[in-house]
Amino acid sequence: MESYEEMLARAKEVLPDEAEETSRFTIPNVKGHLEGSKTIINNWTQIADVLRRKPEHMLKYVQKEMATPGEIIKVSVVFGSKLSASKINDKIKQYADEFVYCKTCGKPDTKLTREATIYFVICQACGAKNSIQSRI
Ligand SMILES: [Zn+2]
Repeated sequence: MESYEEMLARAKEVLPDEAEETSRFTIPNVKGHLEGSKTIINNWTQIADVLRRKPEHMLKYVQKEMATPGEIIKVSVVFGSKLSASKINDKIKQYADEFVYCKTCGKPDTKLTREATIYFVICQACGAKNSIQSRI
């Protein structure tokens, strides 16, 4: 018996052109609100799931870029100051460009690994391994 994954892998070999079309996904926009002097983002882990990255790792990057500490509470993130949602969206896109998309073929089917202090994006579509410049 062939597993579903094996069937998919075989289908990709047979139909390479159609597989190309799924190259990019849509990153959800942040959903949230202000609470006093804090910014609450309610769908943080959902966004991280789409990017297939750890919510904590995405937060580490965004909080550094926004120069505002954040804390994960269940599926949300609470930032310690008033932030604009569109700026957070921009930073998440930046995060995806840096830590998700393959720099060789542009596909998001990648894994993030770390060797010593350097992160690498390993592409499952083309096999490329690219190091990441930012240090978080
Ligand atoms: Zn690639």
